[in-house]
Amino acid sequence: MIVGIDLGTTNSLIGVMEAGFPILLADDNGSRLTPSVVHFPEAGDPLVGAAASRMRAVAPASTVYSAKRLIGLRGDDASAAELPSDYEIVRQTGRALRVRVRDHEYAPEEISALVLGKLKRDAEAALDQPFTRAVITVPAYFNDAQRNATKAAGEAAGFTVERIINEPTAAALAYGLDKLAAKSKIAVYDLGGGTFDISILELDNGVFQVLATSGNTHLGGDDVDEALIADCQLPIATWQKRELVIEAKHRLSTETTVRIDAPFVAGQNLTYELTRERLEKIARPIIQRTRAHCLRALTDSKLAATDLDEIILVGGMTRMPFVRQFVAELFGREPNISQNPDEAVALGATIQAGILSGAVRDVVLLDVTPLSLGIETFGGLMNVIIPRNSTIPLKAGEMFTTAVNQQRAMKIKVLQGEREMAADNWTLGEFEIEFPPAPKGVARVGVQFEIDADGILQVLARDTKTGREKIVALTSAVDVSDEAVEAMIADSLEHAFEDMSERVWTETRLKAEEMLGAVEKAFQLAGDRLPAEQKQQITGLTSKVREAIASHETARLKAANAALDDATQELAALIVEQAMTTKL
Ligand code: AMP
Repeated sequence: MIVGIDLGTTNSLIGVMEAGFPILLADDNGSRLTPSVVHFPEAGDPLVGAAASRMRAVAPASTVYSAKRLIGLRGDDASAAELPSDYEIVRQTGRALRVRVRDHEYAPEEISALVLGKLKRDAEAALDQPFTRAVITVPAYFNDAQRNATKAAGEAAGFTVERIINEPTAAALAYGLDKLAAKSKIAVYDLGGGTFDISILELDNGVFQVLATSGNTHLGGDDVDEALIADCQLPIATWQKRELVIEAKHRLSTETTVRIDAPFVAGQNLTYELTRERLEKIARPIIQRTRAHCLRALTDSKLAATDLDEIILVGGMTRMPFVRQFVAELFGREPNISQNPDEAVALGATIQAGILSGAVRDVVLLDVTPLSLGIETFGGLMNVIIPRNSTIPLKAGEMFTTAVNQQRAMKIKVLQGEREMAADNWTLGEFEIEFPPAPKGVARVGVQFEIDADGILQVLARDTKTGREKIVALTSAVDVSDEAVEAMIADSLEHAFEDMSERVWTETRLKAEEMLGAVEKAFQLAGDRLPAEQKQQITGLTSKVREAIASHETARLKAANAALDDATQELAALIVEQAMTTKL
């Protein structure tokens, strides 16, 4: 079992596939949203989630929120204005940002790990079983350091992080589960409490590619709330106004006028009334700031709004009718509002987890081959049939001929890796296909590799003469750990030069051996018709080729091959002539 987690700036969610459906899990209060907030009391264990969130107003300096804005950043990466300001952040050039609460410093990933730990405990209680494997989402714009720090947070919380996936990809997955086989272009418009992200993705046969992203890490519902607070004339504290205007804002997504009673203040009974029209007037300039980012992303992806097949809305603020209308006008089409905007990312993460665990079967695997797949050919060379990064499912094949005379079988050794020599790659499996004895270069064996949606590699070898075939299924073609893939690629780069010379040498040697065999055969057939002098010259050149093979010098062997090739033109012509005469 693998869980899916949306580790959000404000709220986090966790889900699991149950009976083929992605289900988000609730904590013991029945809430599926866990505030990404940690409060450190003077004594005792930290509070996490809703309990911590309630402490923000009372003890701001010891209540850490929005750790996601700090994760993976160093002191010089962020300007002070972009960081949370209610608690102390230790910023030093070149060093990772840290949070200070009283006399203790915490890495942002430690804060995130506490949030993830609570999600894990709550989910284990809900499911009544322990688990460790998880998929965690991150914004598409997160760099390697931010992704690695997120992964470290997951590991610190006791998870095995199976994959880190992009939030817009997860959202698209949640919306488009049934349309994965199609080729389409999608925009994900994500307006949350504090951040705005726009991503443009291309979906091709189950593989998502983020074409462009843009956004603003300080643009969202909070700005609308601030503007509403400034507009609210009631004689009450700011934090009270905030609670009132947020409630009003939410209700105005379904109502047109709301009246909210303010807390009882000094003998007065205050009432706050707000219309949708007024809200929209106040929110408009804020929402309009998303426009430039959308246009930027379209330009970067070299697409026009009309090229898009779907606009997906994510983030709580997209519940606001004005936002939906704004998006519809900007992109020239009605946005897709089929999903709960708070839950789409977590549902997508859960579906991805289900794909990885095998719980989701009838879905195209959103994947590419991590390493090249091929077979070993004569001389110990790697012959690539499916190059790395090919999108799956797919099928590819090649024809092979016998390498020696009277060959009765061909060994199919299935390899994975980036090295030129077969022995340096990993062997996934091995089998033999037999056929009636055939002369060299005659029997043709078709080899086909097919990777299905589940990542299972099937290798088929068919003797084209008799139609006899063998099929072998191998499982591990796609499921290779990131570390192993990185190591293999690093090795192939490190040895690129030697590998290439080894391949060129082997190919040259194979050519030499082939020519020597051909010359011998030609001498038997037509040697007597060749002038003695020429015969002697050719014999001399074949010895040169043999010596060059023994020397293991590629350039020397190439030259010897070329000389022999030149000298045997006439002999080859004689053989063709003889063949024609025999036929006549
Ligand atoms: P998120 O960061 O995605 O959780 O989005 C939170 C933002 O969405 C906050 O600014 C919320 O006030 C806002 N929001 C949540 N629900 C609604 C709603 N029904 N109507 C308008 N805004 C909402």
